[in-house]
Amino acid sequence: MSNLERYSRQILFHPVGETGQLKLLESKVAIVGVGALGTVIANHLVRSGVGYIRLIDRDLVELSNLQRQSLFDEEDARLQLPKVIAAQKRLNRINSTVTVDAVIADVNLENAEELLMEMDCIVDGTDNFMTRFLINDVAVKYEIPWIHGAAVSSRGMFTSIIPGKTPCYRCLFPHVPTGRGETCDTVGVLSPITDIIGSFQALETIKILIGEKTTSNLEQIDIWDYSVMQMDISNGKNPNCPACVNHQFDFLDRASEQQVIYTTLCGRNTVQINPRNRRKLDVGKLAEVLKKSGRVSGNDYLLRFFPDEETSMVVFKDARVLIHGTNDVVKAKLLYSKYIGN
Ligand SMILES: [Zn+2]
Repeated sequence: MSNLERYSRQILFHPVGETGQLKLLESKVAIVGVGALGTVIANHLVRSGVGYIRLIDRDLVELSNLQRQSLFDEEDARLQLPKVIAAQKRLNRINSTVTVDAVIADVNLENAEELLMEMDCIVDGTDNFMTRFLINDVAVKYEIPWIHGAAVSSRGMFTSIIPGKTPCYRCLFPHVPTGRGETCDTVGVLSPITDIIGSFQALETIKILIGEKTTSNLEQIDIWDYSVMQMDISNGKNPNCPACVNHQFDFLDRASEQQVIYTTLCGRNTVQINPRNRRKLDVGKLAEVLKKSGRVSGNDYLLRFFPDEETSMVVFKDARVLIHGTNDVVKAKLLYSKYIGN
C-alpha cells in the first residue's frame, strides 16, 4: 500500500478505490497535442497515476502559449523547447513513478497507427479537424476509446467516443468542415475554458480506464454567460458511417487521400512542411551551413533559422519544418528547397 500513499485521497473516493487506482497504474494513454488542453489533461493524468502517458506534439513553446498552457514557463519559451520535452521535464518532477514518453511529431497517416494502436485511451488535445478524423479512424479500427475536446473564445465542448458503444466522430461530423472555423489564433481563448474542458477530458479518461460510465452527451459550455448545453448523442449513430459501420478508414488510406505535405497552420501565419521521405537530419551540421546565410539559434531538438526579416524556419531532426511569418505555400516550398533540400 505504501507506494499508493501518494494517491490516498483519490483512493478514498469510493468509485476509484484501490482497485481503480491499480487499473490506472497499469494503463497507457496517448495525448495528441500538448497545448492548452493537452497540458491540463497531462497534468491531471500524471498526478492521478496513469502508468504510461505518451505525449505527441509538433510545436515548440512560445511566449503567447503561457497565458493558458499550464505546464510551460518563460524559460521553456526562451530555450525554444519542443512542447513535449518541456512538458515531460515538468511532469517528471510532479510524478517520477509514472512513464512520460515524449514524441516530437506531427500525427499523420504515416505514423498514427504506430503511435496510437497500443493505447488504452486516446485524448484529443489538437486544434484541427483533420487530426481528429485521423484519431477517429485509428480508434475505431483498433477499438480504442477516445475523448474529444475543443475550446475557443469562452466556449468549449467535449465528448467520449467508445467504438462499438457510442456514435463515432464521423457519425457526428460526416464531412471535414471547409473554410476556416474560428480558432484561438483568430478569436482568442480564455484560459479558464481550456482548463475546464481539459479537466473534463481527464475525468472522462479516468472513468474509461477504471470501467465507469462516461457521458452520452456532446457537452457544451460557455463560461462567459454561464451556459451549459447537453446534446444527447446516444442515438446519433449514422447507419451508413464509413468508419464505424463500413470499416472504411479513409484517413488512414494512402490511396484515397492525397498526402498532405504542405499544411498551412490555420490563422497562425505558419506553413508546415512534412516531407514524404522521412530522414534524419544532422541539425548541428545544418546550423553550421545556414549560419552563412542568416541568424541561427536552437537547442538539442531543433534549430531556428532566419532567412529574412519576416520569416523564420524551425527545423526538426526528422526534416519537418515550420515556416513562421508566411501563409504562402509557394514561398515556403521555395525556402525549404533552398535551405533544407528535397
Ligand atoms: Zn461512425
